[in-house]
Amino acid sequence: MTNAQQAATQQTEQQAINKQWRLKQRPIGEPNADTWEYTETVVPEIADGQVLIKNEYISIDPAMRGWLNDAKSYIKPVQIGDVMRAGTVGQVIASKLDGFAAGDYVCGNEGVQSYAVSEGQGLYKIDADLAPLPHYLGALGMSGMTGYFGLLNTGMPKAGETVVVSGAAGAVGSLVGQIAKIKGCRVVGIAGGGEKCQFLVDELGFDAAVDYKNGNVKKDLREACPEGVDVFFDNVGGDILDDVLTQINRKARIVICGAISQYNNTTPVKGPANYLSLLVNRARMEGIVVFDNVKEYPIAMQDIAGWIQSGELKVKNHVVTGIETFPETLMMLFNGENFGKLVLKVEA
Ligand code: NAP
Repeated sequence: MTNAQQAATQQTEQQAINKQWRLKQRPIGEPNADTWEYTETVVPEIADGQVLIKNEYISIDPAMRGWLNDAKSYIKPVQIGDVMRAGTVGQVIASKLDGFAAGDYVCGNEGVQSYAVSEGQGLYKIDADLAPLPHYLGALGMSGMTGYFGLLNTGMPKAGETVVVSGAAGAVGSLVGQIAKIKGCRVVGIAGGGEKCQFLVDELGFDAAVDYKNGNVKKDLREACPEGVDVFFDNVGGDILDDVLTQINRKARIVICGAISQYNNTTPVKGPANYLSLLVNRARMEGIVVFDNVKEYPIAMQDIAGWIQSGELKVKNHVVTGIETFPETLMMLFNGENFGKLVLKVEA
């Protein structure tokens, strides 16, 4: 794009409206209509050292719920009045920042808004011809990095071992199970509903699936894991973690990736009553935070892209259209309405 074209595009974009979702009030329990404020502002002009990005896809993550709490965590809470934090993929509309040019596709943390002005922090270019854009928020983004490093570095699965994953039909879980299969493990997924469980076995090649909504988790898990559980990758916490703890093997590794069953609690988080199983089995339970691996992301991206290309790893994205739907779309995660990686397409 020439400078004149870039200036003309930016002028048109500046007349455009930036649709934004801001935090209005910290929720107690589930976020609701009082949590959010929808604002429309004029797209600002960029200064030297800035880029203007038109967001195309917004990542919808369970972690968003935690970012609303005014509590110490691995990242600062979103402040009242701020645009809601979110991972994004978009296109650079205008740039006065070295290394970025109009037309580039970029990944970043540009929030729940249709346009963003960035000084480049956390922003990186992606190849839009290599993979569909939502992949860069899912399998080739935070979900993929979480599953890859959480399973391989912390779960340390060995061929022949049994790996169990909860939230198995979701963004992280569906990748964890498939990576464990690639590494030669027996893989059992725990998910809500027959359709998701069938998908895990029939489409993703899991060895078995346990439907926690329509069965007895302990009994069904025992049948699905006749030799016990060596690695448990937990996305859910609560009762499911407790049930799996009763079936772990000696030296088992339990990866605490998340506890979505507890995120909207209005009472204290329920810890595992069966934790002494760790003692009996000389087992280990360890939490992970994806950002700790940022320097190694390119290694994971290369492996995951290779597995996608070879057909060993299947990617399922769940795309909802319209930034206006953000509050309802976020709740899909907590209602189990998403199938695979949930992303919000900003415009139709
Ligand atoms: P996801 O699995 O795509 O979506 C959430 C899923 O959780 C839902 O589809 C639902 O599936 C399940 N769920 C919701 N409420 C539940 C409940 N009460 N009991 C059992 N299952 C429930 O989300 P994701 O993005 O892949 O994230 C998965 C987990 O990883 C989350 O806990 C998230 O916080 C965590 N995470 C951690 C890191 C890290 O660095 N530690 C990074 C990214 C994500 P069903 O239909 O099967 O119930």
